[in-house]
Amino acid sequence: MSETSNISVPDWSGGKKVQAGDQFLGLYQPSPETVGFWEGVKRRELLFKWCGECARAYHPRRMICPQCSSTELTWKPASGKGTVYSYSEVHRAPSPEFQKEAPYNVGLIETAEGVHFFCRICAESGARVEVGTPARLDFRVLGSGYLLPVFVIGSEAAK
Ligand SMILES: [Zn+2]
Repeated sequence: MSETSNISVPDWSGGKKVQAGDQFLGLYQPSPETVGFWEGVKRRELLFKWCGECARAYHPRRMICPQCSSTELTWKPASGKGTVYSYSEVHRAPSPEFQKEAPYNVGLIETAEGVHFFCRICAESGARVEVGTPARLDFRVLGSGYLLPVFVIGSEAAK
């Protein structure tokens, strides 16, 4: 068995080759709830859904506020600031495209808006990823070839 075996998933992509990593990222088929998010990524903006009634931010996408059931949700840019809430070092990636970058860190960033955002966590200047480390938003083309929001820690992260 190959160390970078390709995990196949059902074909709901209209014939495109789909891999497990794409499935996690929602890249295979943006839905009406996720189109706004991906449009923001193209402009290098991280957008969260905000509730017009109770003023809370959400990610992943929501159609209804889980706190107050309002449907008045709108996309707004995130501040780009946060701290590491939890993380994991990946040695065996979910697809060959990501395996090229292993080992790498993924995890939850607790953003200034209170959203727990799952993403790649990139360490600069030899920094070590630790819970509570300040992080800032950036956008990188990852091994998948897609531009994606990431959070960065290191000497530049606090700026
Ligand atoms: Zn609400």
